[in-house]
Amino acid sequence: MTEFDDAEFDETADMAALLDEADEFDVAPLRLTVDLAALGENWRDLARLSGRARAGAVVKADAYGLGIEDCGTALYHAGARDFFVAAASEGATLRAYAPEARIFVLCGIWPGQEQLFFDHDLVPVLASEEQLAFWMAVIAERGEHPCALQVDTGFNRLGLSVEEAMELAQDVSRPASFSPVLVLSHLHSGDTPSADANRAQLQQFRDVSAAFEGVEASLSASAGIFLGADYHFDLTRPGIALYGGEAVNGMANPMRPVATTESRILQIRTAKAGETVSYGGTHRLARDSRLAVTSVGYADGYLRNLSGAGVALRTSVAAGAFGFIAGHRVPVVGRITMDLTIFDVTDLPQGLITAGDYIELFGPNMPLDDVARAAGTIGYEMLTSLGLRYERRYLDGHF
Ligand SMILES: *Cc1c(COP(=O)(O)O)cnc(C)c1O
Repeated sequence: MTEFDDAEFDETADMAALLDEADEFDVAPLRLTVDLAALGENWRDLARLSGRARAGAVVKADAYGLGIEDCGTALYHAGARDFFVAAASEGATLRAYAPEARIFVLCGIWPGQEQLFFDHDLVPVLASEEQLAFWMAVIAERGEHPCALQVDTGFNRLGLSVEEAMELAQDVSRPASFSPVLVLSHLHSGDTPSADANRAQLQQFRDVSAAFEGVEASLSASAGIFLGADYHFDLTRPGIALYGGEAVNGMANPMRPVATTESRILQIRTAKAGETVSYGGTHRLARDSRLAVTSVGYADGYLRNLSGAGVALRTSVAAGAFGFIAGHRVPVVGRITMDLTIFDVTDLPQGLITAGDYIELFGPNMPLDDVARAAGTIGYEMLTSLGLRYERRYLDGHF
């Protein structure tokens, strides 16, 4: 390894490093492209759709698996100034890329984490009486620091009950250094606009937010933004829609795709009608076939439940996933294995593809959520399951 100090790190070395990276991407068995320009555009669209509310950005779980460093930087440059992470450690990482932003930690604060919150100026989202009591002790010792309050309006996940929140709002004995900057709640059925629960949660949250006069309020994640102005309050919290995933069931997805995954064809083999494919021999070929063996497996988040039709483990959905290559959709055949997946390319004209070509797993030609549905899951799980083996490329141009 050569070490450079800043002075020695000249442009030639920089270019060489870039070229090396490009070369590696060109030959990588498995690759992930993240379109940061699309991410920024998605944020701007969601900010517009949020009307009078500001749009925040949810970057928990390493920005839904796509990389908090690059995605956080791109969202910050697009204009986001209110970020949400799940864990304090994620907030500490993000701080370097979002210097002037407010960073909310959705899982709150635990004894032993105080220094992390103060060092990186993180805002704990307090969700229980115990956490509140602990926080009061922290600010009594260290002085004022912003916090947020999560109120549970029907999810039964995290949050103070509505009654606890109302009591707190009216508690005149709370210390002056207690300074909530945001009160938030979360919809459990925002992805289903017709659900009565949305209206019920909205009504509860209106009462709570009114009780915290002068404190900003936030109810909507991606899906809630599409429920209309009543649901926007002061700040929205889009996550999945930023990354191009579907937020609302049954609505054409208006977001730009952000992530593209591709796996390389290691071998194209021919097999005879009547032979079987992959573990368990569960898929029997009905015709003479050409099979493309590619370097992606369930260890890469290409979930085993995406295995092809005819595989015993498929129950709820008849067909497995499809990949995309040279203008064609090609089905997965047989079981997906840890490192390898087999696609049926028999229907492609002979010679159109060769070993070394790439099959798109999801991306602009193969919607993330179509693939997720084939596994009986959601785009969120596909993205956060990507794993460590992808060679990553970030497309951008702005900085
Ligand atoms: C994950 C999360 C979000 C973002 O949800 P999306 O559906 O991805 O937009 C917003 N708020 C809370 C509390 C969350 O846990």
